[in-house]
Amino acid sequence: MRPELLNPLFATSASLPGVGPVLARPLERLALTRVRDLLYHLPDRFVQRRAVANLDDATPGEQIVIALTPREYRSAPGRGPFRVLAEDVLGNICALTWFGRNAGWAKKSLPLGERKWIAGRLDQFGQMLQIVHPDHVGEGGGGELGQLIEPVYPLTEGMTQGRLTTLIQLALAEAPELPEWIEPGLLAREGWPAWRDALVLAHRGEHPGARDRLAYDELLANSLALMLVRDANRARRGTPLQGDGRLRGKLSLPFALTGAQVRTIAEIESDMAQGAPMLRLLQGDVGSGKTVVALEAMLIAVEAGTQAALLAPTEILARQHYDTLVRMAAGTGVTIAILTGRDKGRARESTLLGLLDGSIDIIIGTHAIFQDSVAYRNLALVVIDEQHRFGVGQRLMLAQKGQTSREGRRTPHCLAMTATPIPRTLTLAQYGEMDVSRLDEMPPGRQPIDTRVVTIERMGDVVGAVSRHLAGGGQAYWVCPMVRENENADLAAAEARFAALAERFAGDVVLVHGQLRPEAKDAAMAAFSGGAKKLLVATTVIEVGVDVPNATLMVIEQAERFGLAQLHQLRGRVGRGADKSTCLLLRGDALSETARDRLGLMRETQDGFRLAEEDLHLRGGGELLGTRQSGDTPFRVATLEQITRLLPLAHHDARLLIERDGGLEATRGQAARVLLYLFERDWGVQLLRGG
Ligand code: ADP
Ligand code: MG
Repeated sequence: MRPELLNPLFATSASLPGVGPVLARPLERLALTRVRDLLYHLPDRFVQRRAVANLDDATPGEQIVIALTPREYRSAPGRGPFRVLAEDVLGNICALTWFGRNAGWAKKSLPLGERKWIAGRLDQFGQMLQIVHPDHVGEGGGGELGQLIEPVYPLTEGMTQGRLTTLIQLALAEAPELPEWIEPGLLAREGWPAWRDALVLAHRGEHPGARDRLAYDELLANSLALMLVRDANRARRGTPLQGDGRLRGKLSLPFALTGAQVRTIAEIESDMAQGAPMLRLLQGDVGSGKTVVALEAMLIAVEAGTQAALLAPTEILARQHYDTLVRMAAGTGVTIAILTGRDKGRARESTLLGLLDGSIDIIIGTHAIFQDSVAYRNLALVVIDEQHRFGVGQRLMLAQKGQTSREGRRTPHCLAMTATPIPRTLTLAQYGEMDVSRLDEMPPGRQPIDTRVVTIERMGDVVGAVSRHLAGGGQAYWVCPMVRENENADLAAAEARFAALAERFAGDVVLVHGQLRPEAKDAAMAAFSGGAKKLLVATTVIEVGVDVPNATLMVIEQAERFGLAQLHQLRGRVGRGADKSTCLLLRGDALSETARDRLGLMRETQDGFRLAEEDLHLRGGGELLGTRQSGDTPFRVATLEQITRLLPLAHHDARLLIERDGGLEATRGQAARVLLYLFERDWGVQLLRGG
């Protein structure tokens, strides 16, 4: 159970004074639904402002505080900005500008004719001075506002700096002192503050060590949890499985296995023959042939008289795996079934029965296959195809833990497959001390994908190229970006693109996005993979594992908005057949240098491991990872730079702690339990006795 000490931190943000229902959505969008989340929402940077008497006194680009009197409201049509024209004491005019749906709020806080103090960055917009999204609008306090060094927090629509700052201060007031879990020698050597002080200081930007300490805490929690699970796994009983090769011998594959596949299968086979359950990660770039490796592993389990399960991250992928495996295993006589959240009634009943009586050898599905209502006769191998989703290690371990919760059960062997080529520095963070196999050799005969960067102005040419491609009997993907912060606008853009392309290519186009009903999504995917539809317009749902060899052209719109790893994943959808494939990266005209470098690299190389390293390098230390939409690491607090610098230390420290006090019973061990709960790595604690 969570230590009571932490209860105030896990209270909902809505329980803080003054948080009304209007803030619920923005808080959710920022993933700040609990007090602890607010504490760890650290500032991007800090600003210092100057109080100025009038606009002549200020320079565009400067952060200022100024008294202004609103004179006039101006709304632009559609989703254009809302402006309040306001006047200083000399009669100079400045526009206060809001984008998004903020007009109502702006009018309420800025009644015409009433002088207000405004804080924000002054900009020149054509002939006009303006302040976009002022940080503060208030009755008084101009003097104090000018003195403050203020944190600047990542925001979303419906949330202001002022509001968020207040909320975080309230959250800090709720934070208790916590027992120290960091080794005293290290704490002294680094000069790090205690936990609570570190939080307060980090929000003020005052102590350089404060943020490092908070990041270190997160890394330590992660290392500890992964180690606890790993150690518990070593102590468990699995089922040694010895395949006799009779089923694998009947597989008739249309190709010879690559050296890497053969080696990997041997590694898995030897793990599965052991008494301790396997805990292995299979890393292999998109298209490296992980599916057949999974099949061989599952056949070993079936040859040994047990069952195997394959867990896919999405419905689409589960169905695709099912089709592929049924086809590949046709000559073997094994019984393969599928189970997802959508299977109901009779069909579901009969599948459940088959799993229980053992007439089903291999089950493929989404997480539905691990629900409590699903019981197996003798499940001895679980394969998790998580593609690039983060936290594969944790998922794997959790799945494994789930299987042992029933008394007397043996722990199944686990194989996790990921297509994310993660940089070496991050392997430890993601997977702890798991055994790793790498498919570092592509099947022969793959042609390089011709990758080109094209500006959006050449849209006409791009559509022309698609048209020729379809006329020649090919199929194509057209990918539109979709991120959580910008969901509505992105979806609208994808739908508009679909409409435009549908006009041009009539009945040949189909649209898939995350908000479609599952049946509609499947139907659309089926139409595309069956060849009835030639062009698939999609948001990033297709990223995970879709395999249509005849689709050899991909267009990625606003490619600059994607990370390298994601672009690589997307591009991996083409180049799957024997024909030459092309990937067109459409970009806007205002590009940051990093974005330009990223697109350049995409053109240059197709090596996923290299792209992962370069991605890490390009983003440097400044960018927060694991935050918000980026799922590259399982971290929210630690930056890439901090991970690189502090992770080895945390890993070492965790190892020492476990060697001395494996049950986390002594004083520091107890503090470490608090840490694990604080960072929600309590699945690590729960494996300990008395956790
Ligand atoms: P991923 O690692 O991305 O899951 P898949 O298992 O889907 O890759 O394999 C990609 C494609 O390569 C499939 O069409 C598969 O049949 C084919 N393939 C797998 N192994 C080989 C091989 N050794 N030689 C030729 N083609 C192969
Ligand atoms: Mg795959």
